[in-house]
Amino acid sequence: MSSAANRFALLLVTGLAAGCGAPEGVWPGGDVVLVSIDTLRADALSCYGNPRGTSPGLDRLAAGGLRFEHVLSQAPNTATSHATLFTGLEPWTHRVANISSLEHGTPGLHPDFVTLAEHFADAGYHTAALTDGGPLGASWDLLQGFQTVHAQFEDVAERVDEALELLDEDDDRPLFLFVHTYEVHEPYLPPAPYLERFAGDYEGPLLEALDEVRAEQAQAGARPNGRRMLLGRESFTADDVAFLHSLYEAEVAYADAELARLWPALIERDALIAVTSDHGEEFGEHGEFGHKQLHVETLRVPLILRLPGGAEAGRVVTMPISLIDLHPTLLRAAGLEPAKWTGGIDLLALGRGEVDGGRPSFASTNEHIHPSTASVPWQRSLRTSDLTFIESIEDGGTGRHMVTSYEASDVSEQAPIFERELRTTDRVSLRVSGPAQLLGEHFWELEGIRQQILRDGNGVVTLRASDSKTVEELRALGYVER
Ligand SMILES: [Zn+2]
Repeated sequence: MSSAANRFALLLVTGLAAGCGAPEGVWPGGDVVLVSIDTLRADALSCYGNPRGTSPGLDRLAAGGLRFEHVLSQAPNTATSHATLFTGLEPWTHRVANISSLEHGTPGLHPDFVTLAEHFADAGYHTAALTDGGPLGASWDLLQGFQTVHAQFEDVAERVDEALELLDEDDDRPLFLFVHTYEVHEPYLPPAPYLERFAGDYEGPLLEALDEVRAEQAQAGARPNGRRMLLGRESFTADDVAFLHSLYEAEVAYADAELARLWPALIERDALIAVTSDHGEEFGEHGEFGHKQLHVETLRVPLILRLPGGAEAGRVVTMPISLIDLHPTLLRAAGLEPAKWTGGIDLLALGRGEVDGGRPSFASTNEHIHPSTASVPWQRSLRTSDLTFIESIEDGGTGRHMVTSYEASDVSEQAPIFERELRTTDRVSLRVSGPAQLLGEHFWELEGIRQQILRDGNGVVTLRASDSKTVEELRALGYVER
């Protein structure tokens, strides 16, 4: 958009704010702050049922705003999920992959997609991103539209200090601020008081591993390899798993306490605050640790919206929604219009009963897209009000095709009702047998949308080599073992 158009958009926005009367649930020209607590599964927060008092700060924020009880991410990893958060597009539309192609260049976000930051910048906002780097550094092109960028790993306390400084120095323009932290991501290294409170009674072999990781951190002065706690171990006892989970909860409690210093400053500005995560974390529920699979523990995330004026305070929305819905929600709340191809629904309009909820939620990994990783299985999932499907197709989508299905009422996805390899003929029969029909048809339809975007030139995969700094940041997160 030209600068003249920028000014027009700003005038339009301020004109509405000055008394033309904004519609209900629209706050034109107001500050918007999006906080991504990377790797935060919903049930780690006490307002989502965690019994250990992990999140008094976020609980208070939720009590003063809207809390969405059932929120599913569209990808189990950072780059892909944030690309969805920023663009409002499904993973197979924006085609941003996470890290398996690191050594060969990474499919980043194509510049033709319009991000939240670009929408806000075009409307005259100051757009600022304070991130912990990795996929939210330079190499994935995810920070398109941010005028102020600081992408560097920091402790969450430093991240909050930095955000408070930015608020102090801010100019007269409305602000779109993105704050991101890897504090609760591996390696889980909570400060001593939190370690003691949440995990102090464990005496098993992982204590030694924890000491090694801490020593590595002290020696390097930086984040150690995130997977050190897990590497080289054939199996974990129930106590080991409980210890890992407790370390994670301790990190959540620490992050919550530090972020609680930020909320009053944002509420004083009457900002719209959205707090969420890109994906959850698995602790062996389905045999893996970290965030690889498409089960509910890696996809269910929190979403808290603190609205200007404290609107809708204390309301809890139980209708299942998806992270893809946040993009249109934030734009419409600021009086802006998302691009026409954006997916998702306006969650505030959902709350007012103006749009239907209960839509299917999709998730996908995108690692198979890159030519060098074409043999990586393509995993995708679909959740409807009745059923959950999780698929894995070998050889980048062309090989052996495994499907697992659960009743939606099986909330922890422990008792599959269907689990087997499919052949082409099986797919046909699955498609015509009740609710499963949606699986084939909807993916087919999405495939069509993707191909159309490719023809329009919007979906061309951008390849760029990753720099050594990014490789180091990813090693710290545990993604690079060499
Ligand atoms: Zn992440």
